[in-house]
Amino acid sequence: MSLDRLFSNLAGYMDQYAVLPILYHFHWMEWDELSFDWCLVCIYGLFAVIVTYAVCLPMERWRPVEHWPDQKAVLTDVFYTLLNRVGVIPVITFLLFYQAQTWFTGWVVDMGFIPPTLDSLVPGLFGHPIITFWIYALILDCADYWRHRLSHSFRAWYALHALHHAQRQMSFWSDDRNHIFDDFITFVWFFVIGLLIGIPPLQFPLLMLGLRFIESFSHANIRMSFGPLEPILVSPRFHRLHHALRAAGRGSCNYAGVFSIWDVIFGTADFSNAYLPTGDAKAPEALATGTYLEQQLCGAKMFFQSLAKSWHALGSRRPT
Ligand SMILES: [Zn+2]
Ligand SMILES: [Zn+2]
Repeated sequence: MSLDRLFSNLAGYMDQYAVLPILYHFHWMEWDELSFDWCLVCIYGLFAVIVTYAVCLPMERWRPVEHWPDQKAVLTDVFYTLLNRVGVIPVITFLLFYQAQTWFTGWVVDMGFIPPTLDSLVPGLFGHPIITFWIYALILDCADYWRHRLSHSFRAWYALHALHHAQRQMSFWSDDRNHIFDDFITFVWFFVIGLLIGIPPLQFPLLMLGLRFIESFSHANIRMSFGPLEPILVSPRFHRLHHALRAAGRGSCNYAGVFSIWDVIFGTADFSNAYLPTGDAKAPEALATGTYLEQQLCGAKMFFQSLAKSWHALGSRRPT
């Protein structure tokens, strides 16, 4: 049985025995056409977490950069991963994307315009889904590079992103450790780009999982570089330099998520052979070792304080 088939079957069971009974019980039948897709999103997410765990854990044991006697801070990152990959967030994201894309496409067609897709823009690509996928992946990753780089450039935005950098025990669980406002900005960012380039929801889920795997792997506590592939693919050593204590905030390096070529092209790559301690020296302790809620509250407080500071700075610059 192919992997796709297995996932569909598992999602089918989950839908039939867990989700549909709940929808019927609460008279939410209007969702029953989409509930199978929700289940599929959860199953793919769960599979991704299991594969990431199975590959990264032995490697972290084999060649760790750091040893931590107390790993309580890592547990919070596990919670972030489960919430973001298997829990409610992917379902909400998918649902929002699906609804908004249906609405947007309908609106655009009503205006007498057929939205472009990559296949329609480059007719030669039709029937080459793998090439189309790589083009989509490169476009999205380039957009992600700029989103990430900008999040280090604006004070209020970095106040949110500091949560990701505050972790001193960086492991393969740390990829999803983000403030929920920051996740929302990321969602809107990809959402707009996804609509503009016409990505169909749930297309290429397996390949998307592969890209997410690279992102988790690059956070792992592993002493490893990709040798001659370093300028192409983000390795644990490459991303660790981005998380290095000295680089937190402005003037950091290595912003790419999957393809390090963006750092090479835009002049922010650092290929030093160094494994530095990670964290953000300026981040409050609650952001580094607090519980999920403490981190979210602390991040929100820092965000609003920075917004107020930027607002005042803008006001004092205005002529009176
Ligand atoms: Zn960053
Ligand atoms: Zn990171």
